Amino acid sequence: MQDSPRSADPGSAPVEYFPPDRPWEEHEGHLHLVGMRCSACGTCAFPARELCSLCGATEGLTRQRLAPRGRLYTFSEVHAGPKEFPSPYVIGFVDLEDGVRVVARLQGSAASLSPDQWVEVTTGTVRVRVNGTQVVSYQFRGALA
Ligand SMILES: [Zn+2]
Repeated sequence: MQDSPRSADPGSAPVEYFPPDRPWEEHEGHLHLVGMRCSACGTCAFPARELCSLCGATEGLTRQRLAPRGRLYTFSEVHAGPKEFPSPYVIGFVDLEDGVRVVARLQGSAASLSPDQWVEVTTGTVRVRVNGTQVVSYQFRGALA
């Protein structure tokens, strides 16, 4: 092929991840976000934190693989994003099946989404740096009920 290294082929573009520690993992065919669970009060959260936002515990916080899907609580389409963030894009709140509410990008247009619909975790490019580097992060996409 005669393509330059900056061709549109995402397989050849430089990639970085946000956040860099990639708090997601594949398990039994589904992608899951990895957050935390407080052993003192049982609260789960994403992203993982240094302390429990409910009881304030700083010890006994363990890694927790979260539910792979949830319902779309609410969302909004952004038409004036920061530099390097191709717009429009959709951002919203998802209530995972295990009760954790996550803020994330959603794939597709706002017109293709509706409140309370099922969505599942996936990954995708959220930002393209001026040097062509694609920044990949967790996202949600529509899922069958
Ligand atoms: Zn707690």
